[in-house]
Amino acid sequence: MTAKNAEDVRIQVASEFDIIRKYFTRPAPTALLGVGDDCALLQPQLGMTLAVSTDMLLAGRHFFPDAEPGKLGPKALAVNLSDLAAMGADPRWATLAIALPEADEKWIAAFAQGFFRLAGRWQMELVGGDTTRGPLAISVTVIGEVPPGLALRRDGALAGDDIWMSGTTGEAALALAHLEGRVKLEGPVRDACLERLHAPEPRVELGGRLRGLARSAIDISDGLLADLGHVLEASGVGAELVWADLPRAKAIDCADPALAADCLLAGGDDYELVFTAPPSKRAEIESVGGDLGVPLTRIGTAVAGRPAATLRDVRGKIISSPRKGFDHFA
Ligand code: ADP
Ligand code: MG
Repeated sequence: MTAKNAEDVRIQVASEFDIIRKYFTRPAPTALLGVGDDCALLQPQLGMTLAVSTDMLLAGRHFFPDAEPGKLGPKALAVNLSDLAAMGADPRWATLAIALPEADEKWIAAFAQGFFRLAGRWQMELVGGDTTRGPLAISVTVIGEVPPGLALRRDGALAGDDIWMSGTTGEAALALAHLEGRVKLEGPVRDACLERLHAPEPRVELGGRLRGLARSAIDISDGLLADLGHVLEASGVGAELVWADLPRAKAIDCADPALAADCLLAGGDDYELVFTAPPSKRAEIESVGGDLGVPLTRIGTAVAGRPAATLRDVRGKIISSPRKGFDHFA
């Protein structure tokens, strides 16, 4: 810490601990020790594998600096919950490292309230972190549990697997295009897209239910084709996708076709799951989707060959592949 004089140091230190105590200390009943010591102490359930993931959100890069703190708090946790979901892990604990330009208590209170609201939905406990002064940045680490051998890894896809995805992609990217003035959305379509961008719904329950059904999974944070590409790369298989089979939100159908295709295939910030499973699991997967009320769509097939996705029109003509780009939709 740099400070002009000793008094500055004292004031800053005091407010740092006040912030932690007042806003970031809540009961953590399943932790042996939560916030307040040098480390948290955690006891995993006997025999369970721990799944650990960290995501960082930087003002100006991952969110607008004037973003509503009440939405930013849950979003910082949601993007991490999405990683646990993609691994088929059940959320348990989290840590939060936060750099704040100033001790704006109204901001911090709204951020913390939103964070704990989402954490509470998944019985997740905040057990530690770090609080410092600096350009606004938020880093959350999540710890989950998964039964041994059942984590949904990226490298498990086999040729012949169905490729599935939850929900729809593209609306968050469309909202971003709207906020950046590249497109003008209105009414309920605009609201739906902004909601997707600011309040993503991580597919935690779905991830858990896919244990033992899916052979591989990933969450879509960087765009459908990019993230599916990671599964293909890790698994050493290709993918055949049919453009007409990709699920489309209403907003995507309304948008300019080139922008819509770009958002749908390469938008990012969707936090849906893409997963592969053998065709023998179709009925079970469909009933999971029904139970959870989460639309699940079969979008293609994993095939032997180089690890890339080929996208075809209904007549089988190749309309796009990651290497060719997406301009064929213009
Ligand atoms: P240390 O100097 O040992 O790193 P700190 O003073 O940074 O300890 O933090 C004191 C306690 O508060 C630790 O238990 C730490 O995990 C916790 N903590 C700090 N910041 C946060 C935060 N933003 N959210 C939750 N816990 C926090
Ligand atoms: Mg510290």
